[in-house]
Amino acid sequence: MSETVLVVEDEPALQETLVYNLQKQGYKVESAGNGRTALEIARQQKPDVILLDIMLPGLSGVEVCKTLRREGYPSAIIMLTARDDEIDRVVGLEIGADDYVTKPFSMRELMARVKAHLRRTDSIREELEKIKSAVSEQDTLAFGGLVINRTRREVTLAGQTLVLKPQEYDLLLFFGEHRGQMLSREFILERVWGWDYVGDSRTVDVHVRWLRQKIENDPANPERIVTVRGGGYRFEG
Ligand code: CA
Repeated sequence: MSETVLVVEDEPALQETLVYNLQKQGYKVESAGNGRTALEIARQQKPDVILLDIMLPGLSGVEVCKTLRREGYPSAIIMLTARDDEIDRVVGLEIGADDYVTKPFSMRELMARVKAHLRRTDSIREELEKIKSAVSEQDTLAFGGLVINRTRREVTLAGQTLVLKPQEYDLLLFFGEHRGQMLSREFILERVWGWDYVGDSRTVDVHVRWLRQKIENDPANPERIVTVRGGGYRFEG
C-alpha cells in the first residue's frame, strides 16, 4: 500500500507542481486549496504526511495544524512558510508541526524531508509493533498445562484458574523464569521475599510445599518443583 501525502496549498501552480512531484515518487496524493477542505480530507483519508501552507484563505494553516493535533492526528505535518518571519510563528506558537520549509524551496529537498518523515513514522510504527508482540510473547509462560499470565497475575492448570496467595504466585513466577536452574533457598528468599524480609529459608520450604499441592499431580513425588539434595530447588516446568 502506497503512502498518502496531503498537499494543502492555495496557489494552483505550486499545488500542481507539488502533486506532480509527489506522485512521481510513488505516493498517493490528495490536495486541498483551503483549510476547511484540508481538515475534511485529513480526517477522512488520514494521510501519512501533510504539507501545509500557512497562508490560506479562510482557516489558516496554523489553525488547521492546531485543530488536527487537538484531535490527536498522529502523522507528520510539514509547514510551508512564505516568509522567514513566519518561521518564528510556526516554531514559537508550538502549534504541533513537525517541520517547515521556507518558500521558495528546492523540490528535491522537500521530497527528502517527506521521505524522512515517512521513514520515521514507519519506524515508530514498527517499534510499536515489535513492543506489542514482545509484550504478548512475554506475557505468558507455559509449562505443559501450567500457564502463568504475568499481566493478569493469574495461573491456570489444565485451563483451571488456581487460587494462589501473592507470595505463592511470586515464587511460582520466579521458578518459571528460572526453569532448569538450581536455586538455593537463600537466593529464592532474597529474590522473592526481598533483602529486608525477616524470616528464614524454611519460609521457602513452606511455600514450595503449598505450591506442590496446587500444581503437582502427586505432591509427594513432585515432578515440577524438584528438591536438589543439599542445594535447593529446581523448577522442571
Ligand atoms: Ca498561500
